[in-house]
Amino acid sequence: MNEATYCDILCQISDGVAVFTKDAQVKYVNDAFQKLTGYEKSEINQKIVSGGLFMAGNQGAMTRAEAAIASSSAFAEDVLVRRKSGEPLWCHVSIKPHYNEDGSLRHFISIYRDISAQKAAEGKAAEVEGNHRFILDNVLAGVVVHGPDTKIRFVNRLASEVLRMKEDELDGVPTSDERWVVFREDGSPMPLEDFPANQAIRKKAPVKEVVHGLKLPDDDIILWLVANAFPVLDEQGEVLEVLVSFADITRLVEAEREAQRLRQRFELAVHATQDAVFEWNVKTGQFWANDAYKKIYGYDPPESIHLDNLEDISAVEADHDKVRRTTLDAISSGKERYALQYEFRRPDGTTGHAAVRGFIVRNDTGEAERIIGTTTDIGQLTEANAALEQSEERFRIIADATSDVLWDYNFETGVTWTGQDWPAKLGVQYDQRHIQNFQWIEMVKPSERAPLIKSFQYAIKSEASTWEFEFTAESVAGEAIDLAVKASILRNPDGRATRILGNMRNVTKEKRNQEGYTRARALEAVGQLTGGVAHDFNNLLMIILGNAELLETTALDESQAQAVAMIHRASSSAADLTGRLLTFSRQSQLRAGRVALTNLIPNTVALLRTGIAETIAIRCDLKPGVWEANVDGNALEQAIINLAVNARDAMPDGGEIIISAENHTLSLHTEPNLLDLEPGDYVVVSVADTGQGMPPEVLARAFEPFFTTKDIGEGTGLGLSTVFGFAKQSGGYATIKSEPGHGTTVRIYLPRFGSGEVPEFSLPKPEHGGDRTGQRILVVEDEAMVRAHVEKLLAKLGYVVTAAADAQEALSVLHDDQAFDLIFTDVIMPGGMTGPQLGQAALRLAPHIKLLYTSGYPATAFESLGLDDLSNVNFLAKPYRSEQLQQKLATILNA
Ligand code: ADP
Ligand code: MG
Repeated sequence: MNEATYCDILCQISDGVAVFTKDAQVKYVNDAFQKLTGYEKSEINQKIVSGGLFMAGNQGAMTRAEAAIASSSAFAEDVLVRRKSGEPLWCHVSIKPHYNEDGSLRHFISIYRDISAQKAAEGKAAEVEGNHRFILDNVLAGVVVHGPDTKIRFVNRLASEVLRMKEDELDGVPTSDERWVVFREDGSPMPLEDFPANQAIRKKAPVKEVVHGLKLPDDDIILWLVANAFPVLDEQGEVLEVLVSFADITRLVEAEREAQRLRQRFELAVHATQDAVFEWNVKTGQFWANDAYKKIYGYDPPESIHLDNLEDISAVEADHDKVRRTTLDAISSGKERYALQYEFRRPDGTTGHAAVRGFIVRNDTGEAERIIGTTTDIGQLTEANAALEQSEERFRIIADATSDVLWDYNFETGVTWTGQDWPAKLGVQYDQRHIQNFQWIEMVKPSERAPLIKSFQYAIKSEASTWEFEFTAESVAGEAIDLAVKASILRNPDGRATRILGNMRNVTKEKRNQEGYTRARALEAVGQLTGGVAHDFNNLLMIILGNAELLETTALDESQAQAVAMIHRASSSAADLTGRLLTFSRQSQLRAGRVALTNLIPNTVALLRTGIAETIAIRCDLKPGVWEANVDGNALEQAIINLAVNARDAMPDGGEIIISAENHTLSLHTEPNLLDLEPGDYVVVSVADTGQGMPPEVLARAFEPFFTTKDIGEGTGLGLSTVFGFAKQSGGYATIKSEPGHGTTVRIYLPRFGSGEVPEFSLPKPEHGGDRTGQRILVVEDEAMVRAHVEKLLAKLGYVVTAAADAQEALSVLHDDQAFDLIFTDVIMPGGMTGPQLGQAALRLAPHIKLLYTSGYPATAFESLGLDDLSNVNFLAKPYRSEQLQQKLATILNA
């Protein structure tokens, strides 16, 4: 073959061929070589062919090739060469010496084969350093090249982006730099020697897929990276560089963590749910279910269920077919979901109603693999629903029926719920739609709004579980009424109030009752005290009055007689006063009887007319058919006079007094009883005036004894208190309605006189005694002064008197001498024996003896003092006048 033929052939092949001599002359290059290297034929010299082209690859290859040429031996290696443009190119380079026939070296033939495609497939392109920026910058991985000292030599664009640092900031930074904070997958810190680059340097071997977290310097962001580290070794196996490539998998890790959380939540939900949650592998039959399965079915879930024993899972026989058909249809149909209901039997014999909802998981070919689903015990659900409906119904009925207004405010939705007709229930005039947005506050008396809101806010912000408040509102009739709110506050676990539920009610009546009750109790106490004082005072008056009377019967000069008369008058009015006190304390002697108000009131008015100025009109208003009252007529007359005098005092410039009587029936059911009264028929006597009225603080105390707003000498403060005492003692009640500038009305409730009650009272006719000379009386009185006085008095009246200081002494007198006609004894005495007890003992000793009792307390009071009622025996109330005593004794002794 001649040289020309030879050249032709070489020009046809795709491998680059160059022929050169040992003394560096290029003898031949083919077209492919020019194409491969990018050099023109004329430019190519031996240097390019034998060594220069290796520069892009590595120094080692070039040295080895030169050595081969020098020793005329062969060289063959894969080498990264550099084209004229500087572009690297993977070639298989083989250089072989050719010899002449005489055995001398003729030339070298070098062949360059482009193997870049093959190399790219092997992925070796990334292993090398050099002018690869373009590639490295465009790969989807971050690339960092470290030197053997771990210092960064190179970062690609993505790496600098991910690390949020510029290339020059990263240049020369070692992995031991304190700014790198690296974590292991489990969150623990990663030691320096485990960093991918450090591992690769230490092991001199590639490290794959190291997942680690990296906290960026000056930033709180944690990146999750997966890194490969690849060491580049030199001839001696020493590390030249480490190429670390990494991918940012932060999103992935976060998604994975979120999935983990979701999985946990799902598992919790599965545990917590009332429904059975199951997973059934249709192919293997493997079956799993949560705890609720056993609660529903009564037995543990089966470990496997097969298509041929589907129905005997638990379904009752009647439903076997249905279970089987529905399930098989669902599996074969290609549907994603199916539902099934059937009845089942539990081990304890009870039956349940299961509702199954299933999701069929299919493979790519549409074949059913698994079924995931839930089973609800709808038997239980129906029961729960029924119970709920029942309790809702019950609540609705109660909410409607109760006189309280029930309400519920939700802080989250801002919606208030109330029962129907709440304004009517409370007795207020208000648009019931105005319950929202706290608008109902308008109902509250303006001055009480701020305190209400404050109290509400305080309760909500505190940890309180209840809220209570009372406020005043205006009733439909325009009167002030008291409303009370009571509520429970519901809070979420962090303490924030979520709802408040409660009631609101009209407490006006309760409050008034309570106030009235408190006042009545106070008056009661004062009454007892007053009664005690009056009693003791009566004893003293007894002596004063008695002695004055005695003196009157003796011979006195004119001035002496005048003085005695004055004493007599003064003590008479004092006795009158104590009598009034006793009335107030309800211990006065009242003789209730049938009283026709149609007579009594006009008579009293006539009496009043004489004492009250002409500027005041007195009107009498008797409703037709007014009942008769069961009351002490004299006391009632006195009460009306008291009230009229008060009315007069309240109208210095004139006005009108209206005295009226009307019937009133108190029934337990129709009307709440604000008064301290038994249900029944009453006659209400009222005295109204057009005077100045009373301010609230006077009104509150007007019934108190000795409470007066009048000057000393003008008022005693005993007027209204006696009226009150009288009304109470009569089985009735008294009320005052008064407002400054609007006059006053005092009402006295008196029991109606009915048949079969207390008989009509008639005064005993005075009787005159016959000759009582020599009649013997035993006087028993513990108070020495009174005893002496009575002794004198009786002696004056012609009786023979023996006196004893107490019951014991009297009995010992009687023991020796029973010849007494009468024992005149006090009721309450020291020494442990009362007057009546003495009386009984005396009658046993001397049955003929008459008895007369006396006391500072009225006869009717003894029952309340724990003694027998003395109203049916002979009794003379202290203080008495000698005349009264004389009359009484005459009546008894002559009977
Ligand atoms: P007194 O008349 O001696 O002051 P009362 O017990 O009768 O005592 O009355 C007590 C107080 O009640 C009076 O001082 C007066 O302030 C007030 N009061 C009673 N009745 C009336 C009335 N009709 N109008 C105005 N105030 C009255
Ligand atoms: Mg008065």
